[in-house]
Amino acid sequence: MTAATQTQHALDAETDEEFRARLRAFLAGNAPGPRPKDPREKIAWTKAWHATLVDNGYAGPSWPREYGGMDLPFSRQVIYQEEIARAKVPGPLGTGLGIVAPTIIRYGTPEQKERWLRPMLRGDLVWCQGYSEPEAGSDLPALRTTARREGEEYVVNGQKVWCSSGAIADVFFTLVRTGTQEARQKGITYLIIDRHAPGVTVRPLKDLAGGSVFAEVFFDDVRVPVRDRIGEEDGGWPLVRTSLGHERAAGAMNQAASYRRILTELVDLARERGIATDPLVRERLTDFEIRVRLIRYNAERIISGILTKGEPGPTSSVSRLMITAFEQDLHEFAVDMLGPDGIVTKGSDQAVQRGRWLQGFLMTRASTIGAGTAEIQRNTIAEQVLRLPFDPAMPPR
Ligand SMILES: Cc1cc2nc3c(=O)[nH]c(=O)nc-3n(C[C@H](O)[C@H](O)[C@H](O)COP(=O)(O)OP(=O)(O)OC[C@H]3O[C@@H](n4cnc5c(N)ncnc54)[C@H](O)[C@@H]3O)c2cc1C
Repeated sequence: MTAATQTQHALDAETDEEFRARLRAFLAGNAPGPRPKDPREKIAWTKAWHATLVDNGYAGPSWPREYGGMDLPFSRQVIYQEEIARAKVPGPLGTGLGIVAPTIIRYGTPEQKERWLRPMLRGDLVWCQGYSEPEAGSDLPALRTTARREGEEYVVNGQKVWCSSGAIADVFFTLVRTGTQEARQKGITYLIIDRHAPGVTVRPLKDLAGGSVFAEVFFDDVRVPVRDRIGEEDGGWPLVRTSLGHERAAGAMNQAASYRRILTELVDLARERGIATDPLVRERLTDFEIRVRLIRYNAERIISGILTKGEPGPTSSVSRLMITAFEQDLHEFAVDMLGPDGIVTKGSDQAVQRGRWLQGFLMTRASTIGAGTAEIQRNTIAEQVLRLPFDPAMPPR
């Protein structure tokens, strides 16, 4: 019996608390050593960790077992996220797991599932989302990258931008135009493109904190096999809704668990610096405590929506909006609380906790833009949750 099969048998027999204890013991005994500084070594280190999780049956809490997942009931998915956050082990590379995986599971052919899902979970293949284009961010149906069919291949031309993990990706999941520009979302197709195919150029972009989280990607006569299309030609739009809804839902669940831990660390920091009894500090920390609990309850609502209806629904927009405002406020408060020490950058020996609070402050500036801007989330909430009239400036839906 493999280690993964043994884990599956145990999962079927034990209680939630036994599951928590076993997972905690596994993470304590198998967590990888110190994070390497060299970026290439860090990638290899992260991949090795995710392979270990899969090979031992501890990966993909919500995924079906046939693709290497754990197929956990809701209560255990929450426990799983809590224990992973507590163990501070590296998260998966790229943007595949929470976004394209649910799309492939729902719309992919058996061959596509076989070929992509398990390698994605293990970290053997790093995935990157190639949706946004210049002039096609919030208005995604305005995208212009074209795919012209020639026999059993598409020939792809165009540009994508803001592709997170683009520089380290092996595979892009993209939206391309197969119909006319006027057809808007009715002329869009979902294609998987190999990063190493001739004609693909990736240019890293510098971010505010000095890193290269993003890249812009150019496609020049890139030939993509038709078998790498997910769903029907011109039928990519319903898949986008699945991807984006799951992106927000997966984010909600992971962030609820990791912000629980980060807030506890912030409270510890306030104690260390002797300001935890200051009434103004206490008031702010209490506010964060309330918000982190609300984020968790919302994440639970999203997961139960997925379990009952198969889709996260518009609650994920509510959650996304709450989390992005929360993480900006929390990091801003942390930097303020540290006073002059708060602005020492992560490269300096003087930096408190390796400059993580300033780094978080800078990186969370992007939160209210990525995965849909705050304004777009508010539009979704207005229309789909509050049932207010549709935006008259938008094309009819
Ligand atoms: C951290 C981060 C990670 C990202 N990762 C990826 C990725 O991996 N892959 C990818 O494809 N893209 C990615 N993006 C791109 C992201 O999806 C877009 O930046 C986003 O959709 C906004 O598009 P835009 O930048 O073109 O701005 P625009 O759409 O041009 O918007 C500009 C401003 O106008 C507002 N606005 C636009 N339309 C409306 C409207 N109808 N009503 C009210 N206000 C409106 C917007 O809210 C915004 O404030 C990422 C972005 C960030 C910041």
